[in-house]
Amino acid sequence: MYIKVAVPRPVDSFFDYEYDDSKLGVITQGDLVEIPFGRTKLVGCVMETSQTAPILPPGIKIRSATGKIDSDFSITPDVYKLCQFGSEYYQYPIGEAFFVATAPKVGKKLGTRKEKPSTVVRGDKTLNEEQALALDRMLTQISVKQDSVFLLEGITGSGKTEVYIDLAKTVLARGKSVLILVPEIALTAQLKDRFEHALGEKIALWHSALSDGLRQTQWLKVKQGEIKVVVGARSAVFAPFHDLGLIVVDEEHDQTYKQEERFRYHARDLALFRAKFLKIPTLLGSATPSLETLQKVREMRYTHLTLTKRYSTRPLPEIKLISLLEEPLIFNDQVKTPIAEKTIKLMQETIDRGEQIIVFLNRRGFSQFILCKDCGWIKECKNCSISMTHYQRKNELRCHVCGQKTQVPDACESCHSHELEGMGSGTESLEDELKLLLTGAKILRLDRDQVTSQKRLEEVLTSFRDLEANILVGTQMLVKGHDFPKVTCVVVMMADMLLKWPDFRSSERALQTLVQVSGRAGRAELPGQVLIQGYDLEHPVLKILKGEASHDGFIQEELELRQHLHYPPFSRFVRYRFEDQDAHVLNKKTEKIAKLLRSGLKEEGEARLMGPSEALLFRANHQYRFDLYFKAQSVQELFSFSQRVKKMALAEEIDLIIDVDPYSS
Ligand code: ADP
Ligand code: ZN
Ligand code: ZN
Repeated sequence: MYIKVAVPRPVDSFFDYEYDDSKLGVITQGDLVEIPFGRTKLVGCVMETSQTAPILPPGIKIRSATGKIDSDFSITPDVYKLCQFGSEYYQYPIGEAFFVATAPKVGKKLGTRKEKPSTVVRGDKTLNEEQALALDRMLTQISVKQDSVFLLEGITGSGKTEVYIDLAKTVLARGKSVLILVPEIALTAQLKDRFEHALGEKIALWHSALSDGLRQTQWLKVKQGEIKVVVGARSAVFAPFHDLGLIVVDEEHDQTYKQEERFRYHARDLALFRAKFLKIPTLLGSATPSLETLQKVREMRYTHLTLTKRYSTRPLPEIKLISLLEEPLIFNDQVKTPIAEKTIKLMQETIDRGEQIIVFLNRRGFSQFILCKDCGWIKECKNCSISMTHYQRKNELRCHVCGQKTQVPDACESCHSHELEGMGSGTESLEDELKLLLTGAKILRLDRDQVTSQKRLEEVLTSFRDLEANILVGTQMLVKGHDFPKVTCVVVMMADMLLKWPDFRSSERALQTLVQVSGRAGRAELPGQVLIQGYDLEHPVLKILKGEASHDGFIQEELELRQHLHYPPFSRFVRYRFEDQDAHVLNKKTEKIAKLLRSGLKEEGEARLMGPSEALLFRANHQYRFDLYFKAQSVQELFSFSQRVKKMALAEEIDLIIDVDPYSS
């Protein structure tokens, strides 16, 4: 017989082989086979089987598959579907997509050390009224519509996890399996114990940092139905469940669900697809849901449930906004990050009481902007409604989305002051500055430059938890659910850097980040305070945090802005990134491609294609990068447009990386 095989290579097509089923065994879609490929041997995934010989180009002789991998490693039908969909939507080669979903080292059973037998003791909590109501509504609705999607909105500590657990119990009771996606690996260990205890069921932790042996064993056990619950990071969305009955996505808004390299999928979105396909319910949980999800709620496609109270009586931390315009500052030759004297005073008091501080600085390496020191104004791009990036060398402002350039103005366009300053300082210098300003400060630092491995991350967090330091300075990495009982003070150095990040999601994300960062203060018995320094304290996001403005109003306005500018959730946003070693040549070619693409669009469509612009990180790995952004009106348009872009990049001989729904710059 004949088979079509997808191979783990960056190609969009499949390859034909002859297959001798009398010798190698029966074969079907999703099975893995060994094949000769060029001069090497590969394992590929079977896409089609047929009795009729394919028509090959003249002179090409069909080759034979040389083996079949044990069916234990085959891709299950629903994961097969998921890979197909993911490959198409995220424009990633199908063969490579399959191999994201397979077990490590297919074909060779690795076996792992015998795990110590653990008996899981089951503990029960009784849901409070709100929780019980949420669960009831879900169960009622699922009985009518099995593939219902729920959004459970509730602040940290409001008891969302307990609701996940109780819903999961009902699913397990029917003999089905449960997938629980969580955003951060560092969180998973604590959650595992909690779920095992509550469900009385053995659980697999699922993330890429596990050893091959363990990952393989778990993969096989999940497939055989021996393990019924998986708690995992984004890759767990591909776990080969035997009989999946529910998917929970905790912190659904979290952007770590988006894979930022190679297969650029969004695990929440793939989870939703998988659940729909399997006709099973999905439960999305968050304190600050994404606008994508909220829009679906508005369209009545998801059911919105809320938990309004914190389960314990522990009060929320007090939020103090500290104006960098009005408060006396320490801002001199030695201290380059503006710090209010008041902030230092409050931090010193915290240290003197023997408590801990978390200092948050939003800096992802390379963003710079120009800020008016008299009024907090920041220049934004008129087309894109995002802040413009400052290029020091040329003293120029540029929009990294549409590429528009302007000179740095002499005066603030809002208050006409001449006190314009380039902003953007790093955690390293901040660490030195804080040492200088505080007595008794013992500082640990957590950012991506410095903490490169999971092990190192755990070390830093453990030594902070063990009180070996009293200050933890860091970026985005430290906002996740880490629980430090002794932390009573959280400092946000410059909220403007969060609020004005050059991205159309910056307000949404700033709110999500600040809510999470604030959640780090005063988790145990001690009362907490959150100090937010900033120039523009009038920003609606800060008002919401203070409880002075309504969250709903903000969502409404954000959605209107997005709709007006055709951003998601009202379009499919996609980035085409072109790479080459020669910046000049690349620029020319990208200009040419953009021009061709524009000429193919109708008048109103031209505005939906933006760029070319230099990527925010213009040069990486010796490659220069230019970006085009496109706002597609439909998935169909996204696909057909991407096909054209691919062809053009091929013709121009430049590398192309497509990122559908990009979350990073
Ligand atoms: P979230 O997931 O919303 O952050 P959790 O589910 O973790 O909130 O709940 C916060 C704390 O309150 C946890 O320690 C949890 O055990 C406790 N808790 C929540 N609901 C209940 C309940 N019904 N009975 C007892 N304790 C509860
Ligand atoms: Zn722009
Ligand atoms: Zn000004």
